[in-house]
Amino acid sequence: MHGQWGGESGGRGAVGAALPCQDRRVATKFWEYLALQLTFLGTSSGVPTRSRNVSSVALRLPQRAEVWLFDCGEGTQHQFLRSEFKASQIRRIFITHMHGDHIFGLMGLLASCGLAGNPQQRVDIYGPPPLNDYLQACRRYSQTHFSFPIKVHAVQPGVVYRDDEFTVSCTQLEHRVPAFGYRVDEVDRPGRFDVKRAQALGIPSGPLYGRLKNGEVVTLPDGRRINGADLCGPTLKGRSVVYCTDTVFCEAAVELSHRASVLIHEATFAHQDAEMAYQRLHSTSTMAAQVALAAQVRQLIMTHFSPRYAPGNPIQLEDLLAEARAIFPKTLMARDFWTYDVERQDAASLVAS
Ligand SMILES: [Zn+2]
Ligand SMILES: [Zn+2]
Repeated sequence: MHGQWGGESGGRGAVGAALPCQDRRVATKFWEYLALQLTFLGTSSGVPTRSRNVSSVALRLPQRAEVWLFDCGEGTQHQFLRSEFKASQIRRIFITHMHGDHIFGLMGLLASCGLAGNPQQRVDIYGPPPLNDYLQACRRYSQTHFSFPIKVHAVQPGVVYRDDEFTVSCTQLEHRVPAFGYRVDEVDRPGRFDVKRAQALGIPSGPLYGRLKNGEVVTLPDGRRINGADLCGPTLKGRSVVYCTDTVFCEAAVELSHRASVLIHEATFAHQDAEMAYQRLHSTSTMAAQVALAAQVRQLIMTHFSPRYAPGNPIQLEDLLAEARAIFPKTLMARDFWTYDVERQDAASLVAS
């Protein structure tokens, strides 16, 4: 719980430490305007291809210089080496299910962490109940020693992690083995506190500012009563990211994704190959789009594509994109190393204010 990456109990790391104001509730921090960043490290299903590695998505939390990883297919650490991230920034890893294309990179990544001279903080890993046994066995038989603490949490539907800024919850999807979809929710923040107006009203700075920013009605030493809400801009709505893979279309995915800022959903197959999707309990592009539509998400990003849609196949990945957009126009298709910024819904008005 020390060092430049901050700690679990709300440390803001180097970014927070550089801010002049000690009470983070008082002034809106510049990082409140920064996007959460999603970087796709692997977007192929089953096996890697020349241009796509198997599943892994990194979520960067700019306010903490911290990375949360979703799935860790084989070769994920190589993808890290080719990206702008350091594996030592990883603080939490969320595993959807025990299929190899989602976990075979985990041992290699963990074994390398902390070896490169980078300070490595504790890593919390969340996943299906067999994950702990799997990691313990890998560690035992390969006689691997980790130089930093690792804690494995067996998840079940519901909240799996919560701190003062984020809540992570999961639900079970429909796949051949138990598979969990994850949802990260950022808490709402009070709107921008108008420090200049507070100063003009002669309100003494200090703890009173914090209470006013929280919308409290405060009585000043001179007897005046000030309503904090009058000094605050509109609430900054928290963002939400949902990760659903592997699964066939299911209501649980729709519920988990309700009004999410971004839904990352697998689209292993084209609509024409729906029969295979039902047999293997994967999704087609149209199923992914139907989940996005029913859940009223702001943005759908498809990933986990079958390598079959390669040159030579009459169906190409662009066709999957067109199929999805016919149902849900706000659909994008992930590719390896592509970064998507999850902006605040009201980001434009915030900058203008
Ligand atoms: Zn998979
Ligand atoms: Zn699978």
